Formats: sequence, structure tokens, C-alpha cells
Amino acid sequence: MSDQYVQVAVPVPMQQLFTYQVPTQMQTPSIEVGERVAVSFGARQLIAIVISIDDKCEIDAKKIKPIAKRLNDSFHLSSALVSYLKLCANYYHHPIGDVFQQALPKLLRQVKKVDLQPPMVWQSIEAIEDIQKERLIKIETKAPKQFSLYQLIAKHQGISWAELRTLGYSKAQLNALIAKDLIAEVKQKPCKFIWQDKSLATENKQILSTEQAIIVAAINQSLEQFCCHLIDGVTGSGKTEVYLQAMENVLANSQQILVIVPEIGLTPQTLLRFEQRFNVPICLHHSNLNDTERLDTWLNAQQGSAAIVIGTRSALFSPLHQLGMIIIDEEHDSSLKQQDSFRYHGRDMAILRARQLNIPIVLGSATPSFESLQNALSGKYQYHQLRKRAGQSTKAKIALIDVAKQQMEFGLSGTLKHEIKQTLARGEQVLVFLNRRGYAPAINCQECHWLCDCARCDKPYTFHQKQQLLICHHCGSQKRVPKQCPSCGSVRIAPVGQGTEQLEQRISEIFPDASVVRIDRDSTRKKGELTKLLQEITDKKHQLLIGTQMLAKGHHFPDVTLVAVLDGDGALFSFDFRASEQMAQLLIQVAGRAGRASKPGQVLVQTNYPDHPLLQDLVHNGYQHFAKQALVERKQALLPPFSFQALFRAEANYPSYPEKFLRLLTELEIINCQFAGPVPAAMEKKAGKFRYHLILQAKSRKELHLAILQLLAAIPNNEWQSKVRWSLDIDPIDLNW
Ligand code: ADP
Ligand code: ZN
Ligand code: ZN
Repeated sequence: MSDQYVQVAVPVPMQQLFTYQVPTQMQTPSIEVGERVAVSFGARQLIAIVISIDDKCEIDAKKIKPIAKRLNDSFHLSSALVSYLKLCANYYHHPIGDVFQQALPKLLRQVKKVDLQPPMVWQSIEAIEDIQKERLIKIETKAPKQFSLYQLIAKHQGISWAELRTLGYSKAQLNALIAKDLIAEVKQKPCKFIWQDKSLATENKQILSTEQAIIVAAINQSLEQFCCHLIDGVTGSGKTEVYLQAMENVLANSQQILVIVPEIGLTPQTLLRFEQRFNVPICLHHSNLNDTERLDTWLNAQQGSAAIVIGTRSALFSPLHQLGMIIIDEEHDSSLKQQDSFRYHGRDMAILRARQLNIPIVLGSATPSFESLQNALSGKYQYHQLRKRAGQSTKAKIALIDVAKQQMEFGLSGTLKHEIKQTLARGEQVLVFLNRRGYAPAINCQECHWLCDCARCDKPYTFHQKQQLLICHHCGSQKRVPKQCPSCGSVRIAPVGQGTEQLEQRISEIFPDASVVRIDRDSTRKKGELTKLLQEITDKKHQLLIGTQMLAKGHHFPDVTLVAVLDGDGALFSFDFRASEQMAQLLIQVAGRAGRASKPGQVLVQTNYPDHPLLQDLVHNGYQHFAKQALVERKQALLPPFSFQALFRAEANYPSYPEKFLRLLTELEIINCQFAGPVPAAMEKKAGKFRYHLILQAKSRKELHLAILQLLAAIPNNEWQSKVRWSLDIDPIDLNW
């Protein structure tokens, strides 16, 4: 046997790869790229991924350690996935070992041997006797939810608990069916998915409008080559129907499809629609899965038994080896961008993957990001528009309410109260949007106006009445409400402003006959709670829906005909050039909740600035017009997407450290790039740390990339580097942190 060396990616925060030697006895069967090996690193043993194999080595062979172990299992990454992950690490200048971690479920990151139990799934019992038949008839009338669970299981003959749970079923319902001898748990057969004609359920399939049919045809034409399609279609215009029909041919080729949605809240709905249309194995990938479920999804993707993977942004790194198409729904959504550690954008990296694999990718949104819109307008992407709502529904009208001229009651103007009353009287639902959770955004002293701030962030605490606590929404710290003002001794301490928790209480007082439901991060903390509340809304158990942006996204509420935005002024005067884009998207997305079925809807936006050009443009000319206008301004100002940015963030216990650290970077000689900063972050202090920003901007991605390499190379010699924590964000989308 000859000498053999491997370069591996080790999960440590360092940019480079590490070289290990492959002992002779480990050389058969031959080692492969993408294989998992255990290596000793310092005092620890870690799982590393083989990136390249060589029979020579530049370093002194005596200094090279042997690999500790090969994990002779089948959980390899394909060489295509390895090169893709290398591209991602390179694009974001992020430690490669950390990027590889994204592609491995936790159980595969451990040296411990993985318990290879095949996943358990549920089936209905086929040969049922009279007694079971009677039980079935009984539950059909007495326990409809149990019955629909039974039907789902019977249809699939092999559906996992993770999927059933996501679809809103409970363990209790499952147990009831077990007790009645109607279903049983079996080991999933390791079958490779093969498309059969009967896999397509046609009962829900719509006849496409001409607009839709043209898009499906265009996507079909671009199969098996890289092509990026942007579907710019108002909410309810039939984008999902286009995805579904475009998927048929891909599945018919026995290729897999990856569908990325911004939030897990959206997966039950998407899942259900896909389940109804395709009788193929569908796997879910999101952060609410436990470790075993994650491993199952990973294996199903890798072994080809999952035909469709639906998931949030990290599903992007699934080991789908027969991937034929990627779909990104709500491509504008900022939650596609990871905001810590490995700061990747799910959409951008999905495009990279599609390009690498030479497959089509479909982006869809009612409010496309300016980046995608620009690429579509310039012809880089195929641009498709759906201007009309599908089926019967008509587009909701948006109107502004000038609150300066009205008497307000708990944040509701007279006009708004009147409209809510009318809508409720017609038996329809109302959605009230307020992007501020908690009871009140601050508490203060009514004598001396002292404001109760979080000392670690210099921002007011949010008051949560139910828990009787002050919680800092920036760092999470909590404290009790002070009995007395520490500044003047007064006991007149009271909440100021209004959050969703208070709104829920007040609105119930104004409309005592309506049932109110609140959907925000606090009310949906419990597992399964969001699915449950959404179901209650669909079942019309509630008439008044109160929510933060969680409720603005993608959900389908056919009976909501009035959407009220309590505070439309949020981003009108922000320094962040993206604030107006994000606000416009949010307003249009919320508006998209109204009148989705056959009933017409209206959207009322309360504002102090009804004449503000941004609001006027949105209301009268729509998002597209607004976006094109804004793109002209961005071009003149040479802002993204007409230039490329990277953001260096630095923080420390003293403000001078991050400032000096970043200042030294600006003193380097960098060509073809401009610096902006260093400047204090918009939130200068957070959790006790002082934060500074430095923006680097270039006209081309390549110039930006080269400049960053130069800066990163200089950081080890920066005298302040050990005193700060710094990070790098390529294509930053939020300049506020
Ligand atoms: P989007 O994804 O753009 O919000 P959907 O695909 O969910 O739109 O379509 C909205 C509604 O219109 C759905 O109930 C869908 O079944 C229906 N729909 C979509 N396309 C058609 C069509 N061609 N004919 C009739 N109904 C349609
Ligand atoms: Zn006071
Ligand atoms: Zn704080």
C-alpha cells in the first residue's frame, strides 16, 4: 500500500482544511470524497468530511496525524454536494467545517455509531373485521378529526408521525385509533421512489388560465438545464398551482424536488396541498423536528425515497442526489437569510445549487425582492407575471386612514371601528395587524416620565401583562415591574403604547360578541399551537384575528374580508435603504390576506402621514410601480442590487475597541472598493456590548470578493482583533443589528 493523505473539513471556526494520513489498514475499501471520518483534533475526536485525497503531501509527513476511524456507513455526502458546499463557504468566506455542519443532521455529527433503525411509519390495518368497521362508522360521525386522520393514513399506507403532527394531528387522536385496532406502526420499506401514473391525484387539479399555462410551459421547456424563473404574482393569483403543475414532469422523470418556504408555520398548508396532489413520499425539513426525525428526512433524501422535500432555508443542504427542480416560495422573505454564524441567503444559495446541478429554479412572490426583480427586468431571469387573482376572488382595495383627524380608542380610529363592526355583522372575519408583541412597548413614570430601560441595551423593556414581567426584546433579560419610580419615588407607573397582548384585551371590550384570537411569537410558543390556532381560524371559531407579521405570511383565510393595519408608519423614516422595500412588502403581504375567496376584501391602513409619497405610490400604483421607482433611485445612488456590499460587524465591552478595530481595516489599501464607516450600529448597545459597523461596497462581486480576501488576511495583524468579536456578512439585508 502506498501513502495516502486526505484533506478534511473539521467543524472548527477556521477557514482552512486539515491534512491527515490514511493508515494502510484503512485504505481498503478505497476512501472517497464526502466520506465521514473521525479525527483527533487537539484533545477531542471530531467528525470530519473528506474533501480531497492525495498520495503526496507538502507538509512534513511526521507531523501528520493518522485519521482515527472511518465510519464505514452509507452516510456519505455526494461529491456534487461536497463541491457545492465548498462554493458556499467560498462565497461567504465562512469556515468550511462549519458550512459542512449544515449538511449533516446532528446524529451524523457524532462519533458514536448511528442506530440504523429504519424509520417507523403508520399504516391502516387492511383486513378489518366487522367490529372495526363499526368503530369506523362511529368515529366518522362522532370524532371527525380522528376519522380524517384515519383516512390520511389509509391513503398513504406509510406516513410518519412528524408529518401527521405537522398537519395538526395529536398523539391522543393517534392513540385512539391504535386502541380501536385501526392502525399499526410498521418499519418503513427502503423503497426507491418511482413515479407511477397513479401517483398524480387529479381531483384537485385546476384548469390553468392562459397566463398560468404559459408559465408552466416555459418551466417545462427549461427542464434539465439551469434557468431561473421569477413568478411575480399577486397573492391568490395561482402561483402554487403553477408550481404543482410544473412539478409533474420532474416527478415523471423520477427526479426529486426541493421546495423552500420561509417559515415552518407555512409547511402544514403547503404540505397538505402537495399531499392532495401527489401520491409520492414527501418529507419535511424544519427546525421543529427532533434529531431522529431529522436523520430520517436526511436519509430519505439521500436514498431517493423522498420525492419531494419541503422545508425551511437549511433544507437547501439536503443530500438530494436526483434533484430536478428547486422552488422557493415567498422569495422576498427575509427569514430566508440566516442572521447568525453562517449568514447565508437561502434564495441565493438555492440559485447557486441549481446552477451547479444544471436544473431549473422557480422563485415566486407577490412582492419580489428588488434583487430578483432587477435580475428579471434585465433578462437574467425569465420573468413571469400573474396580474389577476385566480378563480373567483377579486383584488382587495387598499385605503389610508388619516389618524391625525380622528378620535382614537385603544389605537383604533372611528372609521376603522365602524368597518370592523360592519364586517363582523356580515359574519366575515377581520384581521388586525400590529407588529409589536407584548402588552405595551414600554412602561414609564407618569410624574417625571422616567422610562424603564434595559441597562444592557439602553432600550425600553416591553411589558408582558400575563406574566407580569418586563422583558427586553433585544437581549431577552427579564425583571419585575418596579413598585416605585427610582427617579422620583412616585408609584404612578404605567404602560405606554400598545402591543398585541393589550390589543387583544381591548378589542374584546369593544366587540364583546366576537371571539378574538392572537397569533404572535408569545401565543404560539407551545409546539403545535400555531397549527391549532390556524385551524380554529379556518373553522371560523374566531371572528377577530390579531397578529404580528407571523400572520402576514402566506396563510390562506378565505373568510377574512377586512385587514386593518394599525400602524402603517413603521419604516417611513428609517435610515436603512431597505426599510421602505421591507415595509412595502409587509403591507402588500398583509393586504394579500383579504378577500382570498369569492368575497371582496378591503385593507385599511392607519397612518399619521397619508400624504407620504411612499404610501401614496403603493396605494395608487401598486407594488410593481413602487419597486421600479425605487430601483431607479437605487441605481442613481449606486446601492444594491446595482452594487455589492459586505458588512463587518464588531462588538466589545467598550465602544472604542470595535471602532478602532474597524478603523484599522479602512486604512488598508484596497482598490476598487469603498468603505462606509465605521459607524455605531443603529442599536449601538445590545446585551451590554457596544456595536460598530463597517460597510464595504464594490461595483462587482469579483472586486468585493478580492477586497474581502485582502481584509481577512490582514485581520490577524490587527492589534485590536483579540479585544473584539467580529463577524462578516456578505450581501447584508439588515443594517439594524
Ligand atoms: P398563490 O400561490 O399565488 O397565492 P394559489 O395557487 O394558492 O395562489 O391559488 C389561489 C386559489 O385559487 C387557490 O384556492 C387555488 O386552488 C385557486 N386556483 C389557482 N389556479 C386556478 C385556476 N387556474 N382555476 C381556478 N382556480 C385556481
Ligand atoms: Zn418618576
Ligand atoms: Zn436588553
